[in-house]
Amino acid sequence: MNVEILTIGNEILIGKTQDTNSNWMAKRITKYGHRLKRITTIGDDLDEISTTLKEILARKPDMIITTGGLGPTFDDMTLEGIAKGLKREIVLNQHAFNSIKKAYESATRRGILKLEGMTKERKKMAYLPRGSTPLPNTVGTAPGVKLTEKNTTIFILPGVPAEMKSMFRTVITPLLKETKGKFIERGFIFTGIGESQIAPYITQIEEEYPQLWIKTHPRIGLSVEVELSVTCFNVENDVELVENAIKKAKKIVHNLNGKIKTE
Ligand code: ATP
Repeated sequence: MNVEILTIGNEILIGKTQDTNSNWMAKRITKYGHRLKRITTIGDDLDEISTTLKEILARKPDMIITTGGLGPTFDDMTLEGIAKGLKREIVLNQHAFNSIKKAYESATRRGILKLEGMTKERKKMAYLPRGSTPLPNTVGTAPGVKLTEKNTTIFILPGVPAEMKSMFRTVITPLLKETKGKFIERGFIFTGIGESQIAPYITQIEEEYPQLWIKTHPRIGLSVEVELSVTCFNVENDVELVENAIKKAKKIVHNLNGKIKTE
């Protein structure tokens, strides 16, 4: 599957919060052999959300996952923005309403919150774009949302990492597993040769194995230590191809008088 992530929140754009949610999701999407094509970060702005959603939909990904902006305050406008982007009305969802009500009742019963009842702000979280399926939030209050637009499934998840992770694990992981692709990664670290010196030889290996993605990453300052990694998605004989490419890369390191540090 091709997947895109849309991260929503002013606090990320001003540097107050680090976007760890995307990184966490990226690892899982890749692990199950799916391709994360893009991560976009925008603020809590109605028009920005709707325009960006339309741009992502135009690229026709199989799945879009948004995170952030589902809360009770006026600046949480993800649901309205998504509804606008899809040209759908925003309507009171009775299942979402009941689950939010239950979550607040339980929190007041346990003494976690003092204010009782479904205030306007709390009710706001139950207004979902028409056609939404609410996703239960077992950690917090704002439900997530699942929507379908043509061939794209859209998941709208909360920003609070614990809530996002719990929803991702129960709803998205099973889907990723169901249509699992194959991703593999192998590599090694070498010293004594800079990235720029080895680059033309790596290009030659890449030309020989166009199905593989061969990349060097400098690890310390002026490329004193370099990590070489070979990755591929859904390729036949992947292990054999990747191991052959690694063997060739190691031979080049030796020929250039470099040292293999870790296998
Ligand atoms: P809820 O209504 O359940 O509180 P929400 O969807 O309204 O969630 P936000 O208001 O967007 O969530 O964010 C709440 C908090 O979650 C932020 O203050 C921040 O600490 C954290 N958070 C939000 N987005 C991210 C992100 N992308 N990565 C890591 N943490 C995040």
